[in-house]
Amino acid sequence: MQWTVRLEARTSGGEVTTTELVTFSRPAVVSTLAEVGLVLSDTKALLAKLQASMLCGQVAAYAAHHRACVGCGALPPLKDRRTRRLQTLFGTVEVEAPRFKACRCRQPVPMMRATVSPVCALLSARCTPELERVQAELGARTSFRDGVRILEALLPVSAANHESLRSRTHAVALRLEAADRQVAAEITAVRDEPAKAAAADERRPVVMLDGAYIRAVPGHQVRSFEAICGKVEREGQPSRRFALVRSVAEQPHALLRAALQDQGWREGDPVTAISDGDPALPALVRSATGGPVEPILDWFHLSMRVHHVEQVMGGLRAVEPPPLAPLDRAQIDVERLRHLLWNGHHEKACEALGRITGWAKDATVLDDPAMEARAKRLLARCTELQAYIENNEGALIDYGQRYRTGKPISTSRAEGTVNQLVSARMNKCQQMRWSPQGAHRVLQVRAAVLDGRFGNQAIQLAA
Ligand SMILES: [Zn+2]
Repeated sequence: MQWTVRLEARTSGGEVTTTELVTFSRPAVVSTLAEVGLVLSDTKALLAKLQASMLCGQVAAYAAHHRACVGCGALPPLKDRRTRRLQTLFGTVEVEAPRFKACRCRQPVPMMRATVSPVCALLSARCTPELERVQAELGARTSFRDGVRILEALLPVSAANHESLRSRTHAVALRLEAADRQVAAEITAVRDEPAKAAAADERRPVVMLDGAYIRAVPGHQVRSFEAICGKVEREGQPSRRFALVRSVAEQPHALLRAALQDQGWREGDPVTAISDGDPALPALVRSATGGPVEPILDWFHLSMRVHHVEQVMGGLRAVEPPPLAPLDRAQIDVERLRHLLWNGHHEKACEALGRITGWAKDATVLDDPAMEARAKRLLARCTELQAYIENNEGALIDYGQRYRTGKPISTSRAEGTVNQLVSARMNKCQQMRWSPQGAHRVLQVRAAVLDGRFGNQAIQLAA
């Protein structure tokens, strides 16, 4: 049995043209399940023919419409017919691009403008914005090679290599970044009444930042480089991700600024920044806002260091013969550490650490090698925690109180963002190596894709 698909095109004037697209030959009485219905190869052929037919018709109509001189309305003579190729999701289409002589009423004209090609003006890029968007999205989600395979498997898209998928992804990333820079530059301060300002302060955006390391391509001066990933959250709104490689971002702070603006932040509004002990992270937030930033040290990172002290103490208590009486006092201090830090008493925590280190120093000179080794380890862990507390003094808060009001105290959600943005696309398992610039650009698209703000934005930017 045969099925023929015909395309009927009807102009607004009622003129109808019919084009035969494809004919499928399939058994009418099937013998296996595989013979039922359309198959992919049929569908690809149909889509390619349909696309070519529609597109050529539209382009021809466009050329005819734009042939008339804008000055006098006369139709200038045809000079020659050329062709142009346009890549689309449904195949590459070759279209006619007639060139017309410039109208007499426009004379004299400079030599280069002696001909007019309306189609060339329409086809301002080699591919449709939609193809570029889909290629960029695939390039951000999966490896460039896999992206090419997926597209070719499902659509009649013309053969492409991973290089072109990469360059499309990069081109879209550059536009996303430029759009962010523009948004960042346009943010202005708005003065609110005190009541409104207080309400805004209650819902102030929280920026959670974390770093991730990406393996560098061979020949790069370092083996790996850092990407900063984060999330801006504000009560009652979906969160906004951002990511950047600082060394290659044109204006790193502008990317964060645009993300903040997306969450309703305005110049001068206070912002909370949660990060681990890296001072560069809150500094980035400060440069993005140019205003007040409340830094908070991530509870998880602090808690891990307390846990290390607790662990070593547990090891000391297991030493035979039973430990000395002063160890019991040190044990009490270790038990209080977590409670003190959770409730914002970091000075008291430092005093407790001082007592524990004092005891550990005494214990290292005891005549017991097992005890001595463990005491040294306790000393090291305590010194580490104390230094961490002192270095981040301005970012320590009453975690308990903040936690009870339902506000975030940890970057765990930022770490999730790192996994989604970096690890899933660039991690070691995939044996991928990146140039800082390539990684930075893919991260721009990936953040937009994962936020769900990519589709329309990418097409608008291409237009
Ligand atoms: Zn004219």
